[in-house]
Amino acid sequence: MARYTGPVCRLCRREGEKLFLKADRCYTDKCAIERRKYPPGQHWQNRPKLSDYGLQLREKQKLKRMYGLLERQFKRYFEIASKKKGVTGEALMQLLELRLDNTVSRLGFATGIRSARQLVTHGHVLVNGRKVNIPSYNLKPGDVIEIKEKSKNLEIIKESLEKAKHRGIPPWLELDAENMRGKVLYVPSREEIPVTAREQLVVEFYSK
Ligand code: SF4
Repeated sequence: MARYTGPVCRLCRREGEKLFLKADRCYTDKCAIERRKYPPGQHWQNRPKLSDYGLQLREKQKLKRMYGLLERQFKRYFEIASKKKGVTGEALMQLLELRLDNTVSRLGFATGIRSARQLVTHGHVLVNGRKVNIPSYNLKPGDVIEIKEKSKNLEIIKESLEKAKHRGIPPWLELDAENMRGKVLYVPSREEIPVTAREQLVVEFYSK
């Protein structure tokens, strides 16, 4: 699967806020946003104020990057969301949030979306007792996500769980840290999804 492999801190600086793409570093003063709160490039001071279209575009880019997706995958989520009943923006957020890689990260098995994706693709994660190595796997209420028995000794997972203690677990997930097992309790409402993006702008972007 194609993915962005360039410098990720640059993406945060471009969006002007933390996208939490670099695990540990994001929570320290080494974070590039803490050090340089201006966009990359030489002429950032002279850039004109963003138009409505520009705002929508930036919000779309931000959300896409937060979940580590490329354009085609992200647009596909929008298309699925727009066919669902209810508010398209909320449906979009729910689809993104219930991806397996994101949930592995939210449960604290990994310190960020990139390392979570690696755990999944390397076959360390089971869903309902079966190995699933597809990061985009769409979870539903009742699904049990577990670290494979042989992988439970991996220091990187133990350390991630330790570090995740201070972050806490979203209410729609249940975690049994000792057994490295989590469960999706229900589909989260928009308010329960800890992402600051204005998804309505994303909907407007694609609805033109
Ligand atoms: Fe973004 Fe993390 Fe880099 Fe800070 S350290 S700029 S939050 S990826």
